[in-house]
Amino acid sequence: MFWKVGKVKITKIVELETIGSTRFILPLAGNEEIRKLPWLIPHFATEEGRLKMSIHSLVVETPSRRILVDTGLGNDKEGRGVPTWNNRQTPFLEMMTAAGFPPDSIDTVLCTHLHVDHVGWNTRLAGGEWVPTFVKARYLFGRTEFEYWRDHSVTPDKIAVFNDSVRPIADAGRADLVESDARLTDEITLIPTPGHSPGHISVLIRSDGEEALLAGDVAHHPCQMAHLDWSSTADSDPARSALTRRELFSRFADTPTLVIGGHFDGGRIERDGDAFKFIVRG
Ligand SMILES: [Zn+2]
Repeated sequence: MFWKVGKVKITKIVELETIGSTRFILPLAGNEEIRKLPWLIPHFATEEGRLKMSIHSLVVETPSRRILVDTGLGNDKEGRGVPTWNNRQTPFLEMMTAAGFPPDSIDTVLCTHLHVDHVGWNTRLAGGEWVPTFVKARYLFGRTEFEYWRDHSVTPDKIAVFNDSVRPIADAGRADLVESDARLTDEITLIPTPGHSPGHISVLIRSDGEEALLAGDVAHHPCQMAHLDWSSTADSDPARSALTRRELFSRFADTPTLVIGGHFDGGRIERDGDAFKFIVRG
């Protein structure tokens, strides 16, 4: 699946798709509540009100760069809190290559934040060591985010994620820490969107008068556009995360800006009473 934004092309590479079983991340998004939001069906939920979600990476091709935004779960990782996220063996890199993006063609990796499902393919296991997967890439991490997890990863699962998927990049000299509002290229600027994590960033793309927003995990699912206060269990600051949703969605509502989530496909945000809804077409 891909989208064009002026001269920029955005391609989604899926690592994992799920239907339902989302109570652990969005406990308030029960089936009954979801069925009250018919615009979610069928793209983002089933008729029964079960949520459709994915873990994916986005390849952003500008005239001069090939940037991989977020890197999923990865293979061979251990110590994850979600059982099925351990010791995975998926042909994700082969899928990237088949889609036209061999790993060594990526010049930049950008993580919206440093949670387990956004950093996995930063590294791969080689001879018992975690090494950078994208050997020709600089890896861009938000400075606030990197320093937070470097200093505050205290639970075993958070320590595992930082040590196998983030620290080896810094140790290999491949990491660049960027400010949360940095301009990366003529087309790409970062927007600070804290709440889900302390240094979470979103990615604004502008080219030839067209615009796209890679929102990351500001919302895990479009149902949070209707219910801004449905913070996820993974949000480090649920109140801040709700405020960030209101600010960010207000800015882009009723504009042609294409919005793509860290776990959902592209659409456009429309105002709907005091909140918002998400429209795939039109
Ligand atoms: Zn996520």
